[in-house]
Amino acid sequence: MKKNKMKFNTKTIHGGQAPEKGYGAVMPPIYQTSTYSQSSPGEHKGYEYSRTHNPTRKALENSLASIENGNYGLAFGSGLAAIDAVLKLLKSGDEVISTNDLYGGSYRLFTKIFESFGIKFHFTSMKDASQLENIINSNTKMIWVETPTNPMMNIIDIKSLSKIAKKKKILLAVDNTFASPFLQKPLDLGANIVMHSATKYLAGHSDVILGALVVKDKKLADKLYFIQNSSGAICGPMDSFLTLRGIKTLHVRMKRHCENAKKIAIFLSNHSKIDKVFWPGFKNHPNHEIATEQMSDFGAMISFTTKKNSFKNTQQILKNFKIFTLAESLGGVESLACHPASMTHASIPKKERELSGLVDSLIRLSVGIEDVKDLISDLNQAIR
Ligand SMILES: *Cc1c(COP(=O)(O)O)cnc(C)c1O
Repeated sequence: MKKNKMKFNTKTIHGGQAPEKGYGAVMPPIYQTSTYSQSSPGEHKGYEYSRTHNPTRKALENSLASIENGNYGLAFGSGLAAIDAVLKLLKSGDEVISTNDLYGGSYRLFTKIFESFGIKFHFTSMKDASQLENIINSNTKMIWVETPTNPMMNIIDIKSLSKIAKKKKILLAVDNTFASPFLQKPLDLGANIVMHSATKYLAGHSDVILGALVVKDKKLADKLYFIQNSSGAICGPMDSFLTLRGIKTLHVRMKRHCENAKKIAIFLSNHSKIDKVFWPGFKNHPNHEIATEQMSDFGAMISFTTKKNSFKNTQQILKNFKIFTLAESLGGVESLACHPASMTHASIPKKERELSGLVDSLIRLSVGIEDVKDLISDLNQAIR
């Protein structure tokens, strides 16, 4: 069967992959080497030096391209290294429009590193795609989108943004970390670049830091490969292998993640001590319709606030958890809880984060794939 005709659940296992030629190993071996022998100068089997190419990383990059319905995959040492490579497509004087409710590390990279190189960032909600046209000017070169947003779980309409981006000849880049390609495929919706912190759902077992980019366009891919090799923020063969292994069970994990999250979101919304629950699967979620259109399910990230709305009460709930682990990160098989205001989003000024609803009492859950009954009992005993 032609590999690009495969269904998603087959692509996660076979996409861009073939048994290895040497011994027929079904899993791509971990090519733990920095360099490759040449029979005479420049005569080699396609590999010269592992910053440029490595067969294990290549297998992962092919898999990434396959599951995101792109043509070219690139793997990096972290999600932020992948974003860093995207921003290096720009030059001093260029402007970027970004969602305002985004991963704190991305915000820090934008404002603390790239602003000092003369790139200007505008942060806006993007709830209404048409508003964007007022901010776009002749220097605007890129739109940066996270959806669902972190941690408020707003849904941004990728298709509408891509129409504007195309019209204005601006690159549209989507951080697809929260959804994973199981739920949403930004390239199919018109984005130019899809980015992942593969650290999260793709690798899926909280045991690796890795970043990814996937594109369709050859010219854009060549520019990014050039940056990847020139700046050198690649991932190692072992981490490439672990991520590749994680991807093979992505669809099975995501299905259970989503099932568990739905039950927990409903449980929380019926709880007398809970104020608001942010999860795009609710019919009254402001972007429920777009979520239904562009995602195949609603994901496993949930945020909520308590009626007490005090910092102290929130800290107590986090202490009470027995199964949910208080930790940064998300997307692993185990359930995690996090306090964005003091953890993942501490680098965003309080005033700015409260504008997007990120108050001190907000708790974010990454719902894992444990038995949901245990997870609900844990929440029940923790929220007092
Ligand atoms: C974690 C994360 C990143 C950064 O990725 P790292 O692998 O930690 O460098 C970027 N975007 C989102 C949405 C994330 O959750």
